[in-house]
Amino acid sequence: MNDLDEVVAALKSAPSVAVLAHVHPEGDAIGATLGASLAFREAGKVTAAYNADPLPPGLSSLPGAADLLREAPIGRPYACYLVLDTSDLARTGGLLDGRPTDAVVLNVDHHAGNTRFGDLNWVEPGASSAGEMVYRLLRRAGLPIGKAAATNLYAAILTDTGSFQHSNTTPEALRAAADLVTCGAAVEELAAGLYGNHDPREWLLLSAALASLTLCAGGRLAWIEVTSAALQRVGLGLEATEGFIDYVRNVGGIQIAMTFKEVSDREVRVSFRSRGNLDVARLAKQFGGGGHRNAAGCTLNEPLPAARARVLAAAEGLLI
Ligand code: AMP
Ligand code: MN
Repeated sequence: MNDLDEVVAALKSAPSVAVLAHVHPEGDAIGATLGASLAFREAGKVTAAYNADPLPPGLSSLPGAADLLREAPIGRPYACYLVLDTSDLARTGGLLDGRPTDAVVLNVDHHAGNTRFGDLNWVEPGASSAGEMVYRLLRRAGLPIGKAAATNLYAAILTDTGSFQHSNTTPEALRAAADLVTCGAAVEELAAGLYGNHDPREWLLLSAALASLTLCAGGRLAWIEVTSAALQRVGLGLEATEGFIDYVRNVGGIQIAMTFKEVSDREVRVSFRSRGNLDVARLAKQFGGGGHRNAAGCTLNEPLPAARARVLAAAEGLLI
């Protein structure tokens, strides 16, 4: 049996499934989680969707988002834990803690650096998104995909391909998206919720971040920073910075884009984006992070200026 069929067989025989994804979630993590959980519920399974962290603002309009649980499902004896879009165990944010010893952990992911932490692992770096993988899994299992599940899985593919712009916009991703629209995905409503519902304070924060825009390495590297002072001034959390990196990425001539987000005076979260063959996952890995070739991240435990200097030096090294 191949990895997909093993995961399908485990899910089909499981009466109950907890579905979860990585900390600091984005559209793929949440869309895939909710899509899977909603489809399992329709199929008569006991299920719930989990994420350890709060949702970025645009994702709260996804169908079922209000029912997401933040705490580990300790004391709820799930037969199966389906972990989506998560490259290693630590990125579940502790949601697998306290699980029954006989619970089966299914690891379904598209990160090339996945550590295969599951009892069963279906890892496909060629897949556009975890959402596309859940779509294929549900189809293989013969489970129906209703409107709400379809909307979430479509959202996952839409967001992880950068609205069908990035190199992971494969024929398979587009075919899955097309089929999800046939299943009733609420395309227009979804886009309005994801992209057309910003808190004006996010734009104030964005303007402060863009004011820090700096180009180096002859215009091939660009970065912005989001300070904790700016966050406090507007009264928003770091989840409001989702998407800021795209402004940096879309500067002409850029090969590497970065955002430095100051969590505290001892913690900085970095987002990386690159174009073409330049592998920022390798760069992120040098600092204990990871991700994909063209989109990666890491967290450094030091003050912002020191973290920024170290990461910039490493990034400039890549460009030589
Ligand atoms: P972000 O810049 O936060 O949107 O993250 C971009 C990509 O990098 C996503 O695929 C994340 O899963 C991955 N990523 C971000 N931070 C980390 C980290 N600390 N460790 C491993 N992967 C990460
Ligand atoms: Mn993903």
